[in-house]
Amino acid sequence: MIRRTLQQVSVMGDTSFPTKEQQGIEITGVSIDTRTLRKGNLYIPIVGDRFNGHHFAHLAIEKGAAAVLWNWNEPNAPLGMIPVLMVKDTLISLQTLAKEYCAQLKATVIGITGSNGKTSTKDMLADCLSQQFITQKTLGNLNNHLGVPLTLLSLEEDTEMAVVEMGMSGLGEIKLLSDMAKPDIAIITNIGEAHLGDLGSTHNIIKAKMEILSGLKQNGTLIYNGDHVLLSGAVESIRGEFNFISFGLEQLNTYYPAIIRMDQTGSIINVPQHSSIPYSIPLAGKHQILNALAVIAAATKAGMNADKLRDGLANVHLSSMRNEVIEADHFTLINDTYKSNPSSAIAALETLYLWPADRQKIAVLGDMQDLGEQAVSLHHEIGSYADDAHLDYLFTFGPLSVHTADNARRRMSPDRVFNYEDKPLMIAHIRSVLEPNAVLLVKASRALRLEEVVDSLLEGQ
Ligand code: ATP
Ligand code: MG
Repeated sequence: MIRRTLQQVSVMGDTSFPTKEQQGIEITGVSIDTRTLRKGNLYIPIVGDRFNGHHFAHLAIEKGAAAVLWNWNEPNAPLGMIPVLMVKDTLISLQTLAKEYCAQLKATVIGITGSNGKTSTKDMLADCLSQQFITQKTLGNLNNHLGVPLTLLSLEEDTEMAVVEMGMSGLGEIKLLSDMAKPDIAIITNIGEAHLGDLGSTHNIIKAKMEILSGLKQNGTLIYNGDHVLLSGAVESIRGEFNFISFGLEQLNTYYPAIIRMDQTGSIINVPQHSSIPYSIPLAGKHQILNALAVIAAATKAGMNADKLRDGLANVHLSSMRNEVIEADHFTLINDTYKSNPSSAIAALETLYLWPADRQKIAVLGDMQDLGEQAVSLHHEIGSYADDAHLDYLFTFGPLSVHTADNARRRMSPDRVFNYEDKPLMIAHIRSVLEPNAVLLVKASRALRLEEVVDSLLEGQ
């Protein structure tokens, strides 16, 4: 993590000058939250919608902060109690400090954006790279205007590979993050419907993701999902400015898979253009093959040895609640309650269908949020991926999911499709039909809190 004197911080973060006595004081790491602040941190109070970090400065001092930044227009600066560096806007100073610090490091920076699979790809890539390089990555899902600078400031001087997730909910956000991290390699995992509500059109979603090129270093490489026709078109139109590598299921991509085996335990693939030895991916689903291809492309570009990469990929672990397979005593539960949108819901259903035919299959799908005007039609569309051949029961949850259930009833026996708005009632119903050996997928947008359904089913088994 960052270790710099206040003199250096003031230059890097564009703050007021420290006093002569304070110039040599060293800060170790930064914190924007007094609950997790460590002794020696620089406390950067952020003004948020609900809280103003300046009001918690006394706690930062109690916990041993080395210094604080302070907005000029905030009263009661704790002068005399702790070194205070004044700034126009603490958020901008946090971002400027992170940008300057990152520019001083020798690490190869890999930025990852896309509608789905950023965290999965980030975790997979960092797991692989760490087999050969000193690697750091975004912790959890800290992928926004605060998370990215905090990630950059957490990098060590000797870090060789920094894998940075970049999320967004509107235009201009990825540009800010990319300009801050200045990636050597940028990945666009895919283009889906996430944030369609905010952005209005697929065209705008592509534009927003392409902003990752804004900070891409000269001679940098963009690795993108070449199966997406509109994204490929957008990349074609700027060819020549950067290096481009495409990945996808289609053979016209630089990296595409020849699938040797694909089941509920994962996949084995060949990557014909790349190597003659197969790769094993211990995560189920076509979407994970796609994420793995992005990982293979990025790690290879970063100079990774193919055998170590193969080893790394075969042993990856993902963060919880994303396709987390839980083996309960009497059934298997796939906990995917972290997020949902049409492409990830389809990916999850297709992954459920990879389980052996003799196992009972139940899908519990909750509402997908932030789909804007197309919310009804996209919920309706998901229903067309349910059918009697693959699914024994479909439970949908929430008012929008009524449309998923309605459409599913055309392909499934109507008496096996149910829509609920009450969790306890739905849980009781699921329990009443659950057979030993069932495989149960639970997926919804985070706000639906379907993890309560997961917890309750696991408790009551
Ligand atoms: P967030 O925007 O919340 O940060 P994310 O882009 O980091 O999301 P993940 O957390 O990796 O995405 O995965 C979210 C959901 O998308 C999970 O249900 C996961 O199984 C699914 N998913 C992962 N990769 C893909 C992919 N390539 N295509 C479609 N769905 C995917
Ligand atoms: Mg994420």
